[in-house]
Amino acid sequence: MNFDAMTAAPVNSAPRRAETLAALKAEERKLMTDRELIRALETLLQHADELDEKTRREAELTRREALRLERIPADALAEHNRLLGVASAAWREAKKRDDFGLFRPYLQGVFESSRRLALLARPESDPYDTLLDENEEGMSRAFLDPFFRGLREALVPLIGRIAKRPKPDASFLHGHFPREKQLAFSRELMGLMGIDGRRCALGEAEHPYTTFISRNDVRMTTHVYEDRVHANMFSILHEGGHALYELGISEELEGSPLGHGASAGMHESQSRLYENLIGRSRGFAELILPVLKRYFPEALGGVSPAEFFLAVNRAEPSMKRTEADELTYCLHVMIRYELEKALIRGDISAEDVPRRWNALCGEYLGIVPETDSEGCLQDMHWGSGLIGYFPTYALGNAYGAQILAHMKKELDFDGLISAGNIEPITLWLREHIHKYGMLKTPADLIRSASGEDFDPRYYVDYLTSKFSKLYRL
Ligand code: ZN
Repeated sequence: MNFDAMTAAPVNSAPRRAETLAALKAEERKLMTDRELIRALETLLQHADELDEKTRREAELTRREALRLERIPADALAEHNRLLGVASAAWREAKKRDDFGLFRPYLQGVFESSRRLALLARPESDPYDTLLDENEEGMSRAFLDPFFRGLREALVPLIGRIAKRPKPDASFLHGHFPREKQLAFSRELMGLMGIDGRRCALGEAEHPYTTFISRNDVRMTTHVYEDRVHANMFSILHEGGHALYELGISEELEGSPLGHGASAGMHESQSRLYENLIGRSRGFAELILPVLKRYFPEALGGVSPAEFFLAVNRAEPSMKRTEADELTYCLHVMIRYELEKALIRGDISAEDVPRRWNALCGEYLGIVPETDSEGCLQDMHWGSGLIGYFPTYALGNAYGAQILAHMKKELDFDGLISAGNIEPITLWLREHIHKYGMLKTPADLIRSASGEDFDPRYYVDYLTSKFSKLYRL
């Protein structure tokens, strides 16, 4: 229903769909909090050491969700969801009219309501830690504070040095690139990535995303801008990375609660791996430029792979997170993380958000947005109740760099990409990450795939080495 809503359904279908979804959610809650189910799960977990790994993990995760739902009264949850409905509509309007005041009371309400639910779900924990853990199992401020501090200390000076270097020419990425040709290119790129068209469909949406229905039914979307060629290409690579993850989950997990990607962060590690670690590599420029030239000979005919590689890696601070380059991306996440922490604690209120946003933007990125639309109103997340979610984007990037460093010990990563042979890379990921679904926690998955605990230094090293070379620092 969500995929339909984002791609094909007429706009007036929204209220009825919201009612139907609310009824389904209520039914799900009834089933999940059924006393008999919880008793059965508890009995199973009393015998945890007699269970196989899959049954034990299924029981643990199901009980965890059942307990969360049980502690939050049905009317409190319904109230929260109603609030999110009006808050996201208010956000859309506020963004369109560049009027933060329209969103301010709803933003305040969403943070207060989320804090209330977090305290109901886990009265003993800090509410922001509860929200972080709900979005990425095992995450907390105690982990993320030093993680972000480390990134900031390494990246802010690097960005400052790069700002003084000449910018590579990226003008050839802009021009006129007809929609039909971009869509035909998209399908060829999906083929190159090894995405099975019998199990994965492509649609178009305002904000590209991917829906997972089952391991044989994945729906990707992209967005074509006719005035530039790279946005759609990176959308396909990114969403294709999400799709390949779900398509690679072991058949034995079909229909199980474990039959999805391990976490939001782990999912993002796979999408960013295809988008950046593959898609913005030198080898990929060699591979993809001749393909692009077949579709757009006039615009790209005279461009060399070296020029293309430099253009898609042009790094400079910008206002929009979704269009940020690899180097500045995580600083956008940090702005949101700092604000979420302060809003949940009550250190600041919604009315302080534009001022605090702009101040952090200046501090981390060295630029300040001119309007709230391009500043604190740019993302849909808070209006939809996604609080504690942004950090998973940064974690995903860092997981990906660690996975890549380890994969490179076993595979000739760059050689495979320039030869157009992506399959061994996907098979490696399937074997070490994808096939497990939710069988392992994100931390266990990183450990088993790379042989060591999560270590963000891999990410800092990757960015420092790549961008120092690119900008001849
Ligand atoms: Zn993503």
